[in-house]
Amino acid sequence: MADSIYADYPPNLSAAQQEYLVTTIKDWAIQNGLAVRPAPTALPANADPNRVLATNAPVTIFPSPFPGSCFEEAKALQTIYNQLYAAITCNEDWLGKIIEDLVDVDDFVANLWKTHLEVKKEGYVQNLSLGLFRSDYMAHVNSNGPPSLKQVEFNTISSSFGGLSALVRSLHEELLTSPSGSPISYPPHPLFDSNLPPENTAVETLSGGLAAAHTAYGSSKSSPALPLCILFVVQEGERNLFDQLALSKRLSQVHKIPVFRLPSNRILDDTLIPSSNPSRPLVYKPPHSPDTAFEVTTVYLRAYYAPDEYKSSRDWEARTHMERSAAIKCPTVLNQLSGCKKIQQVLAEPTGPDHLTSFMKDISPALIERLRETFAPQYDLSTDGQGRELALNPETAMKHVLKPQREGGGNNIYKSEIPGFLRSIPEKDWKGWVLMELINPAPNATNVALRNDGEVLRGNVISELGVYGTILWNADGNILHNDQGGWLLRTKGKEVNEGGVAAGFSSLDSILLY
Ligand code: ADP
Ligand code: MG
Ligand code: MG
Repeated sequence: MADSIYADYPPNLSAAQQEYLVTTIKDWAIQNGLAVRPAPTALPANADPNRVLATNAPVTIFPSPFPGSCFEEAKALQTIYNQLYAAITCNEDWLGKIIEDLVDVDDFVANLWKTHLEVKKEGYVQNLSLGLFRSDYMAHVNSNGPPSLKQVEFNTISSSFGGLSALVRSLHEELLTSPSGSPISYPPHPLFDSNLPPENTAVETLSGGLAAAHTAYGSSKSSPALPLCILFVVQEGERNLFDQLALSKRLSQVHKIPVFRLPSNRILDDTLIPSSNPSRPLVYKPPHSPDTAFEVTTVYLRAYYAPDEYKSSRDWEARTHMERSAAIKCPTVLNQLSGCKKIQQVLAEPTGPDHLTSFMKDISPALIERLRETFAPQYDLSTDGQGRELALNPETAMKHVLKPQREGGGNNIYKSEIPGFLRSIPEKDWKGWVLMELINPAPNATNVALRNDGEVLRGNVISELGVYGTILWNADGNILHNDQGGWLLRTKGKEVNEGGVAAGFSSLDSILLY
């Protein structure tokens, strides 16, 4: 099926048609905020001293066909996945056992764990946690039978592109519905006939989660009472800010909640926890308005997910400062740790304890089986066994990817490089990595991408679907809000191993279901 769909997809473009479409898309992107700031290194020295420039986000010119059955299954499983990761985060013993086994080989995981233990020692004052998650998948092609949904990974921190993915959908929709013959429409193709990308409510879903946390926080814990706000903690010089602004705009315009953006290096300058207040409210003093102060209900992290963001002990101090405050964290340190690749490997173990059932006692066995079906084989490398055999044998290594406990793209080792890489590091460090079987999406999928330097690439591609979910729960495991909605399709050249858009590997895409 997938093969026949792609036999003549996408339709051919003449050079003039392609140029017209590319021009249209470039202009549409800026008109509608489907944009990123350019990398300073991509510009001549001093070309943009005031940082005023923006450019189109990398996008595909056509939407990509995606199996409807896989798309529906990903959506159907999202609130269950939300619940699973909330339950893991609540089970500190189970999580801690796995994490403690990583601390001697992974400084970053060790520092996160230490941060949690420090706050635990003093005592947490906030019982609620918020997750804005994205579960990523590929449609795996089976030799016989329809494609099946396989999970690439589950993200529990800084899940991005909800803001921009809805815009790519609108862009493709506009091109699909332009009057036929109009220069900005596509050439005809059977897949385009009365077919539009499914609705994409990522912005509504993600901002709805943040708003639910804000409301659940309750009234000010300061005396005298302070007005309440949500804080987006962001990276200094963030280039993907328009994606984030789509969420903060909806929070302020629709939910009527004040939102501030705070670069992580300013946390200790612009926020404080009054030492006289045992409730530990997090007070934000906007630098542009020194006489005002807000109490932060919810800290949304779009930073602090990677080790290189912790430049000194001051960053760890800032992370601890937020963690010990009364603000609801999205995510808590523990929830961030639950997203480690190691956890995903343990959940996918085919033998041994049935973790899924013990974490989700109220979910039917049939649904749990459907969730389990989305796991691709993954292996532990801590001891001699199947994982090491597959990783060290050059032939079997070709079918695998090696992953460390990292986020944000660009960290994995692929295929032929796996055996040599493992042999180059001490054997005692192997347990910090997991081996995962490669998922095989449709082999002859094709698309055309407009990169953000204006380059146009046509070729075989691989697409990765992300589905967004949000959940608010308390430490006893009670769920106050559990929702799913909105999706992301990222498409990259088939020869490219890695996948992130921000990391420069993929383009934003949308979906035509078949
Ligand atoms: P990160 O948290 O850094 O995004 P991922 O697990 O998503 O790590 O891996 C990065 C990229 O590597 C993915 O976007 C995907 O393109 C590719 N990848 C990861 N695991 C697999 C897999 N099992 N099969 C195929 N590609 C994979
Ligand atoms: Mg990730
Ligand atoms: Mg990923």
